[in-house]
Amino acid sequence: MRAAVLEEFGKPLVVQEVELEEPRAREALVRLEACGVCHTDMYTASGADPSGYAPTVLGHEGCGIVERVGEETTLVKPGDRVVTLFSPQCGECVHCLSPRTNLCLAIREQQSKGHLPDGSTRLTRAGERI
Ligand SMILES: [Zn+2]
Ligand SMILES: [Zn+2]
Repeated sequence: MRAAVLEEFGKPLVVQEVELEEPRAREALVRLEACGVCHTDMYTASGADPSGYAPTVLGHEGCGIVERVGEETTLVKPGDRVVTLFSPQCGECVHCLSPRTNLCLAIREQQSKGHLPDGSTRLTRAGERI
């Protein structure tokens, strides 16, 4: 897929090809139709965010169509129109079960490393995980 990669803090993004893996259990692959770079992305890109990391792909807020789902994925199915958010969700903690927030804390440690809840990523570039 094409992605705008933040290679270095404070530098322009670099649009390039990266490899995207298939969705794993409880995940969905979404074909983005639009995405934005929000203030959180800009904060990270500036280098001022102490929890920021690079290289990374910005633009976590988007909308699109579910293309494929992994095993045990029940909330969405191929063809569903969805929005993407900053944080994955465990689906089980007090925050995920609340109708007022989706800021899951159960996976915060992995998220702050740029990882999904299982500690991995789905993007690679020339064999390097990003
Ligand atoms: Zn955001
Ligand atoms: Zn949660």
